[in-house]
Amino acid sequence: MAKICIIGAGIIGLSSAYYCSLRGHEVTLIDREPERRDGCSFGNAGMVVPSHFTPLAAPGMVALGLKWMWNPESPFWIKPRLDLELARWGFHFWRAATPLRVRQAAPLLRDLSLASRAAFQQLASSSTSDFGLTQKGLLVLCRTAKALDEERHTVERAHELGLAAELLDAHQTAALEPGVRMSVAGSVYFPQDCHLSPSRLMSVLQERLLQSGARWHWGEEVMAIESKAQTIQTVVTSRSRISADEIVVCGGSWSPKLAAGLGLRLPLQAGKGYSLTLEHPPQLPRTCAIFHEARVAVTPMGSTLRIGGTMEIGGLNDRIDPRRVQGIIKAVPEYYPEFKTSDFSNIKPWFGLRPCSPDGLPYLGRPRNYRNLIIATGHAMMGLSLGPITGELVASLIDREKTSIDLALLAPDRYQ
Ligand SMILES: Cc1cc2nc3c(=O)[nH]c(=O)nc-3n(C[C@H](O)[C@H](O)[C@H](O)COP(=O)(O)OP(=O)(O)OC[C@H]3O[C@@H](n4cnc5c(N)ncnc54)[C@H](O)[C@@H]3O)c2cc1C
Repeated sequence: MAKICIIGAGIIGLSSAYYCSLRGHEVTLIDREPERRDGCSFGNAGMVVPSHFTPLAAPGMVALGLKWMWNPESPFWIKPRLDLELARWGFHFWRAATPLRVRQAAPLLRDLSLASRAAFQQLASSSTSDFGLTQKGLLVLCRTAKALDEERHTVERAHELGLAAELLDAHQTAALEPGVRMSVAGSVYFPQDCHLSPSRLMSVLQERLLQSGARWHWGEEVMAIESKAQTIQTVVTSRSRISADEIVVCGGSWSPKLAAGLGLRLPLQAGKGYSLTLEHPPQLPRTCAIFHEARVAVTPMGSTLRIGGTMEIGGLNDRIDPRRVQGIIKAVPEYYPEFKTSDFSNIKPWFGLRPCSPDGLPYLGRPRNYRNLIIATGHAMMGLSLGPITGELVASLIDREKTSIDLALLAPDRYQ
């Protein structure tokens, strides 16, 4: 049994802790936030997405990013600023956005997603863990025939990867969602996708960890990580000094600072996104959906409906930009005509910072220069979806086993 210290109690930290504790390890978690938290892992869209086999850094995204830079309501926005880290990140993003790199990443993302989905099913099979896992698929809704035609290629690619995907016309789409009036040319249906309630999932994991005897250091910020002879000795927080056999960094968008203290370069930008949850939506879809042109995600959670979107690369801050929130709200009646922008009048927007690596792939593995360090972060738009498999792989790394999935493309020192 090893003593494991996990920095960061978002979905990646909790999943890593959970799978380590299942193997009998002694787990300590540190998070600078208090126990009741509202970070990126809580207010997200809750989608589990084998359909997301294309990383953010894909051909066409650089041009789209440049075009959308001038539109404050656009779904993807890079705030222009003089920042060397952003320039480096942008350079690596540009280098990664090629057909070859996307083709290499796709089977890995598929394998990670399908393994994670299986882990969610396993987790949900216990009667004490109801986190609203709903296995009804995902619809990518296209307003225009042009967008629907573009999606044809995605369906072909999904089939090549062995994933289920169906191109549906407007009538077939309406038949899948009889309770919602839609203004669409058609959709792509991905039956293997699922959705769940992220905050309930976080509570289930926390509860299980408490039962397994995990220790918590809530409200403590990690200030330094001390090492000697390639071995981490102590994690120094604002209140404690913690020693462990293995350290796992799951600090989300703040991970580069933690890594920099160890001499590791981890290019990562915070991708801010917003969500709004309607307690009494005019209509309630059965499946989760993505509005293709608007890049907005819609997820039923019990009787409520969560709408989320935007990717704002604007630094580590907690400013809410009302123009970007408006961009999300305006999209809803365009696809669901029974909804009005006024339905959102009294709803407080939530925001979260997605940890985005430049090539759209997580950082997962042991950096070469340390004997007892694991990095697990950079999951961008897929952190919830890939939480359980990341946790399982962290546990395998801790036990120095051959991992079930080859992690070469995810090496945390790939930009050293
Ligand atoms: C609008 C929106 C919708 C999304 N929808 C989906 C979706 O449908 N499906 C999906 O898979 N993903 C989705 N995501 C992405 C997903 O939410 C993230 O990928 C995921 O939450 C990242 O988890 P994490 O554990 O890496 O980071 P976080 O949840 O940010 O956790 C990191 C933790 O580390 C702590 N920490 C950092 N530095 C320190 C330090 N020095 N000392 C102590 N503690 C520290 C922080 O306090 C934080 O709690 C969405 C995101 C947004 C914004």
